[in-house]
Amino acid sequence: MTFEPLASDFYGYENLLADHEKEALATLRSYLETEVKPVVNEHWEAATTPPGIFKGLADSGVFSFAWDETKPFENSAVFRGFVALELARVDASVATLVGVQNGLAMGSISVTGSPDQRAEWLPKMASGEVVGAFGLTEPLSGSDSAQGLRTTATREGDEWVLNGSKRWIGNATFSDITVIWAKDTADGQVKGFIVPTSTPGYTASKIEGKQSLRIVQNADITLENVRVPESLRLQQANSFRDTAKVLRLTRAEVAWAAVGNSVGAYDAALHYTKERIQFGKPIASHQLIQDLLVKSIGNITASLGMVVRVSQMLDDETQRDEHSALAKAYSTARMRETVAWCREALGGNGIVLEYDVARHFADAEALYSYEGTREMNTLIVGRALTGLAAFV
Ligand code: FAD
Repeated sequence: MTFEPLASDFYGYENLLADHEKEALATLRSYLETEVKPVVNEHWEAATTPPGIFKGLADSGVFSFAWDETKPFENSAVFRGFVALELARVDASVATLVGVQNGLAMGSISVTGSPDQRAEWLPKMASGEVVGAFGLTEPLSGSDSAQGLRTTATREGDEWVLNGSKRWIGNATFSDITVIWAKDTADGQVKGFIVPTSTPGYTASKIEGKQSLRIVQNADITLENVRVPESLRLQQANSFRDTAKVLRLTRAEVAWAAVGNSVGAYDAALHYTKERIQFGKPIASHQLIQDLLVKSIGNITASLGMVVRVSQMLDDETQRDEHSALAKAYSTARMRETVAWCREALGGNGIVLEYDVARHFADAEALYSYEGTREMNTLIVGRALTGLAAFV
């Protein structure tokens, strides 16, 4: 399949990709344009996930780009970033449900699981046979989950007993397993568990009324004396520091998705403003509309430079928490400005779903807040700069 560079990649960052990476990106782009894009607005309105999308995404390879056990070919973190951008350019919900499966669920098992756990679960998740979710946030603990988790894990012989509740858990209305993070009642440390969702005592119910990322299904989860064997405890997750290793990786991917969400809005705005005639000429020929478009491409280009560098730092193993935290905080803030400018450029049609910008506009809000709010990511960077933690 021939790779066509994205016009909105103004400085040509895609040139950093190897030929085989460009080819994989072109295949994914073709699947998204033909199978996903035509149905996203109707599913967004109905707050439903397109049936079969997991299988389609799995077949296009997106769950197997990252982890050694599943990697179909050698690829870079920059390539994986462009995959997140490509998904979010079409739809940020689709990027999110991939991010949950690929980054949060498979990432937890890859980063904190034992070799046996990786070998058992990752191939099945890469093929889409097993859908995963990631349960960290709770009704009473969001930003403070490093200290504030209330869900408990108590060891009884060869088993663990989990009790508590989780909130906002993506894909959890239909996941086969959910990675649950809970405090060990013996040592007070956060541990991770692969919980099959068929386990007695585990229930998940859909959160209704979301006005952002409506294609993603988020759930409230209740755990009542849920028993899992020691073999399902993530063997390398010994404290919240290990959970944070997973979040460092996924935050960088959200930063990329924010760029993709901005690009989706910008592309739609550019197209619309070239077609829409006012005062006898396309509105794109009016200076103030060009200003909106140029400010948007400026934000996209600046954010893209940042996320590319953060991914290169992952590849050369110099990336730290504060690097991905800054990229997430910065690119989601720029995204919020960009989608608003694009919405403005469409006038009234900017709030109508059919023109796509309204969806990107609404979806920006969830990307801005999940995987660490702007404030939390700012405090992570602030701690690195000053050596002083300002969380509490
Ligand atoms: P709160 O922690 O209550 O924060 C509210 C506000 O207070 C924020 O602006 C915050 O920045 C600010 N604040 C809090 N503490 C401080 C402080 N010390 N200084 C300054 N400001 C502060 N979680 C999962 O575990 N798994 C998922 O799959 C998942 N998916 C999600 C999908 C969506 C669509 C959404 C919206 C959330 C999802 N989350 C998930 C949860 C998400 O990570 C949390 O919403 C996020 O961490 C913020 O927590 P909170 O909503 O409880 O806000």
